[in-house]
Amino acid sequence: MNIDVLTLFPEVFDTYLQTSVIKRAQDSDAARVRLVNFRDYSMDRHHTVDDYPFGGGAGMVLKPEPLFRAVEALNEDEIPIERIILLSPQGRPFTQNVAKELSSVKRMVLICGHYEGFDERIREHLVTDEVSIGDYVLTGGELAALVVMDAVIRLIPGVLGNPDSAGSDSFSNGLLEHPQYTRPRKYLDWVVPEVLLSGNHQEIAKWRHEQSLLRTLQRRPELLNDRQLSDSDLEWLKHQANKEPTV
Ligand code: SAM
Repeated sequence: MNIDVLTLFPEVFDTYLQTSVIKRAQDSDAARVRLVNFRDYSMDRHHTVDDYPFGGGAGMVLKPEPLFRAVEALNEDEIPIERIILLSPQGRPFTQNVAKELSSVKRMVLICGHYEGFDERIREHLVTDEVSIGDYVLTGGELAALVVMDAVIRLIPGVLGNPDSAGSDSFSNGLLEHPQYTRPRKYLDWVVPEVLLSGNHQEIAKWRHEQSLLRTLQRRPELLNDRQLSDSDLEWLKHQANKEPTV
């Protein structure tokens, strides 16, 4: 996967891109990330990228020319650009399903905004997608681009050491992940659930599935709305509801 990031602050990315899974993905050529400062594509000698909003108002607006020219230059590469994604609080909410969808894209461009916003013609005539990482406003799109890259890159086949780990993560099958335990078996007065020590893989899988359902119901019940629950899942959840007044 090839990702070109258009940003005014490429230095923000250095440490994160050189750490852990994202670094390994680049080292193994599963992902290639290129940072492009779109100020380099400004047309004037002061390298201006923003200007006052027509009609007045607070803040500065990113001009269209530098971004259009930067994308034009990226288009000269032989790998075709499949998606041009604007990071924006007004975009489609970024979810695990969107990450999965993007993980099969061969080449994408991420555009990081700054200041008050973008000239609307960038939205209308340059980008293919607009993505938000949540209902809050960041100073710039750099953190959002890192969030998108991290979530997408770890889903590229072969990037995670154990291919099962992404599959059992929260949201991948529409549920939150079950609780996890490690050594020691007993810490202070708190013991690990017996079933996890039983060595019975079928029972362990059943316990994990049930805990996953329960946890989703307790913390994110809306995730269950679109899910077809089996009779045994429903039965078990009803049983829990009778047992625990909080459910
Ligand atoms: N005035 C803009 C608005 O209300 O939509 C917000 C501008 S924000 C200060 C500057 C930039 O940060 C945005 O252009 C966008 O690239 C990025 N940004 C801020 N919040 C974001 C979010 N929740 N998701 C993705 N990008 C975001």
